[in-house]
Parts: sequence; C-alpha cells; structure tokens
Amino acid sequence: MRVAMIGTGYVGLVSGTCFSEFGHDVVCVDQDAAKIERLKCGEIPIYEPGLEALVASNAKAGRLSFTTDLQQALHDVDAVFIAVGTPSRRGDGYADLTYVYQAAEQIAQSVNDYCVVVTKSTVPVGTGRRVQEIITNIRPEMALDVASNPEFLREGSAIEDFMRPDRVVIGTENDRARQLMSSLYRPLFLNETPILYTSLESAELTKYAANAFLATKITFINEIADLCEAVGANVQDVARGIGLDGRIGKKFLNAGPGYGGSCFPKDTLALVRTAEEAGTPLRIVEAVVDVNERRKRSMVRKITHAASGGSVRDKVVAVLGVTFKPNTDDMRDAPSLVIIPGLQAAGAVVHAHDPAGRHEAEKLLPDVVWFDDPYQAMEGADVLVLMTEWNAYRALNMAKIKKLLKDPVIVDLRNVYKPHEMIDTGITYVSIGRGEPGMAQPSTLEKLEKQEA
Ligand code: NAD
Repeated sequence: MRVAMIGTGYVGLVSGTCFSEFGHDVVCVDQDAAKIERLKCGEIPIYEPGLEALVASNAKAGRLSFTTDLQQALHDVDAVFIAVGTPSRRGDGYADLTYVYQAAEQIAQSVNDYCVVVTKSTVPVGTGRRVQEIITNIRPEMALDVASNPEFLREGSAIEDFMRPDRVVIGTENDRARQLMSSLYRPLFLNETPILYTSLESAELTKYAANAFLATKITFINEIADLCEAVGANVQDVARGIGLDGRIGKKFLNAGPGYGGSCFPKDTLALVRTAEEAGTPLRIVEAVVDVNERRKRSMVRKITHAASGGSVRDKVVAVLGVTFKPNTDDMRDAPSLVIIPGLQAAGAVVHAHDPAGRHEAEKLLPDVVWFDDPYQAMEGADVLVLMTEWNAYRALNMAKIKKLLKDPVIVDLRNVYKPHEMIDTGITYVSIGRGEPGMAQPSTLEKLEKQEA
C-alpha cells in the first residue's frame, strides 16, 4: 500500500519508518526543508534508539522516502496520516490545531483520488469531523474518508512500542476505511495485537483518557511519596505493595520530580479544557495538573534544604540529566526547565551534563555551564542532583564523587540508589519518599489525625 505521513517528528518519523518496515511504500513529508535534507542524507534529526538503522534499511530497499513536496507525496496514496504537532495553545491550554487544519487544507488541495485521511496526532474530540468538513468544503467532489488512529508510542522505546503495541485504536465508521486500516496493520493482526474499532470520537478521547490516567498514577504516587517522607514509610515498598495487585499494576508508580515531556502536560491540560467546554469538568485531572506544577517547584525547595545551611546562594549545583526521561533528547516540558531556573533564582550556579539532551537544552536553559563528562560537571560542586535516570548514571563511582564534591550531598530525584548503601559512602543522600522508619514527625501525625477526625 502507498502511505504518506505528514509531519516527520517523533511520531511521524517512527510511524512512517515502521509502516515501511511492514512492507508498505511510505513517503514522509515535512515543511521543515532542513529536516528533510538531513533525512535524505541518512541523518536522524532526533535521538531515538534503533531508528537510524531502520530508516537506512528501508530507504535502501526503496520503501521509505522523504520530501517537502506534498502534491507529489499524495499522488495515488491509499492513506495519508496527519502526524503534526498539537502543542498547548499559549494562554489557555487548549490544543492548538493550527497545524492539523493546515495539513487538512493541504491534503484537500493535493489528493487526486480516494484515500483515507488518518489523524495520528493527539487531537481533541471533534477534530476528525472538522478535518472531514474542511476537506469536503474545499473538494466537494472528492470522496475521502477520515479515521482517527491515535499513537501510544513512548519516546526512547518508540520502535518496539509501534511494532509490538498493547493495542491499536482505529476510529472510523466507514467500512472501506476500516478495511484499508486493517490492511495497513496486517502484520500486527498476525501478532494477535488487539485492534479496537470505535467511532471517531471514542478513538480521539481514548488517547486523552489514557494519558490523563497515566499522569494521575504518577501524581498519585508522588503525593504518597511526600506522605511516606512525613510518616517514615518507604514509597518503593508501598508502590510494590500496591502494584502487585493486578487491578492496579506495577508501571508508572515510580515517584519522582513530576511528569513532563511532549504529551502528558499538554494533553492533561487540553482534556481539562475539553471537559470544561462540554460542561462536565474533570476534577481529578484538574487536581493532577495543579499538583504536578507545584511538585516541580517543590523540588527546588527540596534541593535547597539539602544544601549545607539550607541555601544554594553562591553555590554550585551539578545536575545530571535534563531531558524529561532517559533515551530521548526531547526537552518539551521537562521538569528541569522549572527546577534549574528555580535554583538559579535562588542564587545557584548550575553545572549540567546530559547524554543526549544538551543540544536542545542549551537553547532553553540560559547560564548553565555544560560539561561533556558527568564527573567534570561535579568538580567543586556543593550539591549533586540526579534529575534523569539515564543508564550512564546508574553505577556512578561514589568514592570519586565524594572527592570531587566540595560538600558531599546528593539529591536523587529518581531513587536510583539505595539509602542503606549510601550510608557507607559518607555522602549525605536525599531521595524521594523514603522516610526513616520510626522517624515520623509528631506534628505531621497530629495534622493527619486532625484531618481524619
Ligand atoms: P514534532 O513536533 O516532533 O513533529 C511535528 C512535525 O510536523 C514537525 O517536524 C513539523 O515541521 C511538521 N509539520 C507541521 N505542520 C506541517 C505541515 N502542514 N506539513 C508538513 N509538516 C508539518 O511532534 P511529535 O512529538 O511527533 O508529535 C506529533 C503528534 O503526535 C502530537 O499531536 C503529539 O501529541 C502526538 N504524540 C506524540 C508522542 C511523542 O512521544 N512525541 C506520542 C504519542 C502521540
């Protein structure tokens, strides 16, 4: 089958490449000419493990190509995917659909025959029908169908997620479109991947509901972590204790500095706005958004308190990892974008290292001193903050760190290390939600008792 992918970012490039790996002929289109030029030369504009080799082999086999010429890309296609960005609209948090609607107009102007127009971008309920309207208004004679096929891949394991997804959701009410989408995903049928056929609206809402639920799970365990610190419990034990319950599940129960990234922050906010507009407010998701924002700021206080004398003024804070999670260079809404400026505002000089995020982060985080080696970043620092759990930071040499740090304090925002092992290192070690048994603050317990009463 012939497929065009409009938007060659994290989702479009991975999806397009994987469809070509399935055996389809795929043309990836982007309006960013520099990006397309790089891709034509075999250079991958994003950091995604395994992607470079997959792009190279499929391009060599003649199944995957890149262009800025939409008209040519849409000639005789069976399906055209819209995989453009849907960022938060500045000021109000609604999903900005400018790129989606632009793509719909361009499709209407360029297609020459029947095809299915598929929204892969995360879009609010009703967008698919609006895309259909836009196309019909411009080309009333052209019989096209619209489908919604939200993408659930995660950066860092995107290829595996696309090739072996938990499920594929396809929203369309038309048989011809449904058959075409089935053919596209045939290799996954053979793997017995569940394929869910729904209405356009249900498919669109499924994506937002999934992200909001996962963001809620993270935020829930983050709040439980704070309680653990106050009452002398260990959040990792609590998370395991609840996660082993099949109804709850183990994933997304790692306490940390708050969720970030290109999806959860904007999607939770957009869902809150959709619900408000529909007159059915989602109070839980509203609280999640609020708690997560506060959490990122509270991490600045946590680091400040850990520094000697409870202040970072004129001190050097070394930060390891700035991307919102490991194995990506994506800096969109990373907690570091709140925490690092917060530390700088409190008077700290920030040294930083990241295995892949530096290039993007340099544009967003002014006045940070960057290092190519994590140990160099720590030299003479007063506090070391482990912000993102890259594998490279999982077996750090503590004896070396103790010598390098002026004042040996580590704040581990990802609970990579074990408190009892850190005792022997002579380093003051602060982590998330791992309270001292028997060390509950009486005032906290009193407060809790009062609340309960
Ligand atoms: P991105 O910003 O990395 O890529 C979007 C690309 O679209 C850019 O390269 C841009 O130049 C291009 N573009 C915009 N308008 C265009 C047009 N009219 N013609 C051609 N190209 C155009 O975005 P992304 O992270 O890939 O996200 C895309 C969508 O997928 C969003 O809705 C996002 O919420 C959703 N999503 C993202 C992820 C993720 O992990 N990044 C996961 C699931 C879903």
